[in-house]
Amino acid sequence: MVDRGKVLAVLLATRLRSFRTRAALERHQRRRLRVVLGRARRAFPFYADVPTATLSAFPALDKAVWLEHFGELNDRGLSLADCLAVSRGADAHRRFDASLAGVSVGLSSGTSGSQGVFLTSPGERARWAGAMLAKALPSLTAPARVALVLRSGGPLYSTIDGGRISFRYVDLALDRDLIAERLREFAPTVLAAPPQVLDDLASRSPRPTPALVYSIADVLDDDAAARISAGFGVPVRQVYQATEGFLGISCGHGSVHLNEDLVHVERDVLDPATGRYSPVITDLYRRSQAIIRYRLGDVLLPGAEACPCGSVFATVARIEGRADDVLQFQDGLGASRPLFADFVRTAVLSAPGVRDFRLVQGLDGALRLAVIGEDAWPAASEALRVLLRNRGLISPAITPMTWPDEAATAKRRRVRRESRPSHLSDRDSSAATAGPRPPLRVD
Ligand SMILES: [Zn+2]
Repeated sequence: MVDRGKVLAVLLATRLRSFRTRAALERHQRRRLRVVLGRARRAFPFYADVPTATLSAFPALDKAVWLEHFGELNDRGLSLADCLAVSRGADAHRRFDASLAGVSVGLSSGTSGSQGVFLTSPGERARWAGAMLAKALPSLTAPARVALVLRSGGPLYSTIDGGRISFRYVDLALDRDLIAERLREFAPTVLAAPPQVLDDLASRSPRPTPALVYSIADVLDDDAAARISAGFGVPVRQVYQATEGFLGISCGHGSVHLNEDLVHVERDVLDPATGRYSPVITDLYRRSQAIIRYRLGDVLLPGAEACPCGSVFATVARIEGRADDVLQFQDGLGASRPLFADFVRTAVLSAPGVRDFRLVQGLDGALRLAVIGEDAWPAASEALRVLLRNRGLISPAITPMTWPDEAATAKRRRVRRESRPSHLSDRDSSAATAGPRPPLRVD
């Protein structure tokens, strides 16, 4: 059970704590970092030899390394194998109550072979719920009916019911008609769902009429955002949430702000020209697992320096999907250069007749393209060639492919790069890597 008192305490603290200046925020972060890093050296065997409790003394870890040392990076001494066994068993029965040693064990909905395992204590779940409510609800006094459409429910979402705020969790694995029916019955004032579900609901009649609509758990494209906003008659906002933490949320002015009161964010810059980066996060509150200089696989495009809402939290113009999916091409000098999904999407979707597409870059660098839209394949492939030429990149072969099978619960990846299986999905081939990775450059 979630401790309602703790949820409320966190909710109020989060709501009332405001940072007038960036300096005030940084003071708060330094205070929390001292607490978290000081404890980390005692609580997690992996960090026992870190000489000082300063952030730069800790190594940056990506998910693969973090999972490899799973047993030394949680404070219960749980092994990855035990946690995987108990959570997969529960997941297979669509139960989400797996627990070990007093913590809930959840699987991340990873798109790659390396499925993450995340541990949360009741206190951490209460903290998550309080922070989420504080940031997502427009008013703390008005009644709210919050509907969440997600792949897995679990203790996080099911125990905050009652009072002025009521919750309804709808399983993303359900048929789309059933999801729509459940939501019509519940009549949410706040609706949070993956963009594909929102897109589907927005085109239905009758549809739910929430006052606030949040896109969660997947990349929100501009074209989908426009349709969703038009359909519901309210601007669609975004929650940037990963199993690793609650990372950001849209403000009333439509900017996504990083939750820098909860998470310290360093930038692993992928593209100096545009500033695109992968966030390297340190959770300022989490205790059961170390999330310290943890490199997320996402690509973020930084937003404007100052937002009219007055928040000092950094903004994100776009959350663009996985760094592993950034396409790689050769330029005229034979050097490998990245091409970000956003450019591909804009180019291909603006080709005549293209309604949707999927693009896969194989291990040999060649491209496979599937297109929805009458006779639109030649225009789509030509748009790709023009894009590559204009950026000084050499176009590999582009061949048609059939539309891939996609589960309703899977994250949508319009642009994808194949990688060799990581050692976690294929434990015997430990020499395999998940593809080339740029060195960590952190501002
Ligand atoms: Zn703002």
